Amino acid sequence: MLRNALVIASLLFSATLHAETADILITGGTVITMAGPNIEPGSVAIRNGEIVAVGPSSEVDRRYTAKTTIRAGGHAVVPGFVNAHTHVPMTLFRGIADDRELMDWLTNFIFPAEAKNVDREFVKWGTRLAAAEMIRSGTTTFADMYYFEADIAREAKAAGLRGVLGSTFIDFPAPDNKTWDDAVAYMREYARQWKGDRLITPALAPHAPFTVSTEHLKQVRALATELGLPILIHVSETKNELQQVAEKQNGMTPGAYLDSIGFLGDDVVAAHGVWLTPEEIRTFAARKTGVTHCPESNQMLASGVAPIVDMIRAGMEVGLGTDGPAGSNNNLDMVEEMASAARLQKVSRNDPTATSAREVLRLATIGGAQVLGLQDKIGTLERGKRADVVIIDLQQAKVQPVYSVESAIVYAASGSSVTTTIVDGRVLMRRGELLTVDEKAAIAKAAEYREKILASLKK
Ligand SMILES: [Zn+2]
Repeated sequence: MLRNALVIASLLFSATLHAETADILITGGTVITMAGPNIEPGSVAIRNGEIVAVGPSSEVDRRYTAKTTIRAGGHAVVPGFVNAHTHVPMTLFRGIADDRELMDWLTNFIFPAEAKNVDREFVKWGTRLAAAEMIRSGTTTFADMYYFEADIAREAKAAGLRGVLGSTFIDFPAPDNKTWDDAVAYMREYARQWKGDRLITPALAPHAPFTVSTEHLKQVRALATELGLPILIHVSETKNELQQVAEKQNGMTPGAYLDSIGFLGDDVVAAHGVWLTPEEIRTFAARKTGVTHCPESNQMLASGVAPIVDMIRAGMEVGLGTDGPAGSNNNLDMVEEMASAARLQKVSRNDPTATSAREVLRLATIGGAQVLGLQDKIGTLERGKRADVVIIDLQQAKVQPVYSVESAIVYAASGSSVTTTIVDGRVLMRRGELLTVDEKAAIAKAAEYREKILASLKK
């Protein structure tokens, strides 16, 4: 009798010690939640793809037993990075024509190379190569604008990545859709297939205010509202764009023009915004239209410096993006992008305090999530959010010693310091080993495509 009571008592005791189970327990790291102070040593417990606990390891580890325990001592545990503007299949054009004028680069290289090479197979392999690169450097969500976007969605889903993936609308025959009506029909079918998916949000991607007519922009706006899906668009990237829009639209600037036709809203994501005026910044803040800042692309193409400090002060949502990796970056590394964003504001404002490591880390995580309308799901490490988590090695020579963990990540580490990437509770990379993408095959295909693309440009 006494023996039974003891057994029951000890069962009860262990049950209170380990009251709950988790699929994954990340323990002992410096947890940067982006929703409050850092926790060290901290733990994150994940169950069914959701974060079920975040807190001091001493508390969380006692409450949870996990099928998989990841020891993160000497590492930072951060929300997965959100690359809020890119064109991932363009990895296959990486470095094809650098150090040129934007129009020379576009009309003599990118457009002909796209016309001759971009098909479903091309975007499949380009996305696969990009997926390997993104997972390796800690990107868990990406916003994309390209052609055959349904195929990009399929690849992203297979790799386990989260995406807001925009199907292109443009006023000339595109590699996927030769006419405007084809693009609309494609979008409807794409939305039918993917709307409501746990990882993929289909989106509409009109190219820019100077490559899509007013009538067509209004059509896209109405279709987005009807389908309940976001819009991704390039806005105010270059001075050349300002000139073209002004000529066609009574001297208006691109942002003011878009507002005048009722285009802006909280479901619109504007890439670049380099030349937004103070008035446009106030308008974007009022309409809750977010901007994705792409500092490396803006530097590479000498587009200018987006006034993101002013945007943030005005209450605008701002995220970070790499832009496409062909002559306008040339990689998908969000750690490098954060450092570039910080340094570009400092030098352009002649003020080293213009922004901080913590601030650009915010842009690369919850800032991007807000811009994409995903702030309730991702962007911070909080109970109830989806488990998009990245672990960064802080013990490398290039990072040591660590006085400030945010500074260590942004200014000293790099994308290759990421060791583990988790999206929606699924481990996509563990200790540097990719688990969902055949990276070797993607790299071999990239080399094949290089020969094919070069040959196509000689014809
Ligand atoms: Zn772009």
